[in-house]
Amino acid sequence: MALVTMNELLPAARKEKRAVGAFNVANYETALAILKAAEAEKSPVIIQVYDRLFESYKAADLAGTLLRLARRADVPISLHLDHGTSLEHVAAALHAGYTSVMLDGSRLPFDENVRVTRQAVDFAHGAGCSAEGEIGHVAQGDETALTVVDEAVKFAAATRVDALAVSIGTAHGYYKAKPKIDVERCREIAEALPDLPLVLHGGTGTPLEDVRAVIRCGIAKVNIATEFLDTYLKSSRAELEKLDGKFIPPDKFYDPVVEACAAHAARLIRFFAGR
Ligand SMILES: [Zn+2]
Repeated sequence: MALVTMNELLPAARKEKRAVGAFNVANYETALAILKAAEAEKSPVIIQVYDRLFESYKAADLAGTLLRLARRADVPISLHLDHGTSLEHVAAALHAGYTSVMLDGSRLPFDENVRVTRQAVDFAHGAGCSAEGEIGHVAQGDETALTVVDEAVKFAAATRVDALAVSIGTAHGYYKAKPKIDVERCREIAEALPDLPLVLHGGTGTPLEDVRAVIRCGIAKVNIATEFLDTYLKSSRAELEKLDGKFIPPDKFYDPVVEACAAHAARLIRFFAGR
């Protein structure tokens, strides 16, 4: 049905106190699984790719496939650059046809984060696309810095981001211990920014009751990477074991893997939608 930007998806989701799932994909099969899941749930979805794919031809090559999938889907799909590390990658994503970008300046000093994010927003808006920024820092093997409410308000006004990633106790990857999610902080940020869709990074392994609570507070996009991509790996491993060394053409081999990944994503999409 439609290739869209996040602006066609997230403001409505925030108003209705639901969230759109944003899944990292790495190849045709993982992308196809997300398309199937979204269609099965009759829900919009965001397909996103890691910034490192822009260090080679992978992101641009994959864009051809993603654009085709999004255009033939019977639900709205946005294609997004996740954690862009440079304005060059932001420009490359927009050039390749992605409809949304994130510039992650969350480890930079506040003013520098504002400066680069604002530029990314200008690039995106100039191309008719949407942009996400991050204030506070969601950890990835480094130190978390929870989002400060006043800083979030200043950051949003100065950058004009369309969606704001906030740090409220989640982390990227699998957790070693149960995370403490600061729902109250999320509520305060959302109340201070009543119209801006907020983004939860580090969705993998975050207790679902916490995810539900922060969606009620203003989180309108939930990022899922590790647990979805790990489903792909685990399912592939299980299928290989079943084969026990026998040959099967890879297109057939991946059919059940895609189904397993689609089922996993569909459960999450349904949950984020509040169904
Ligand atoms: Zn993230």
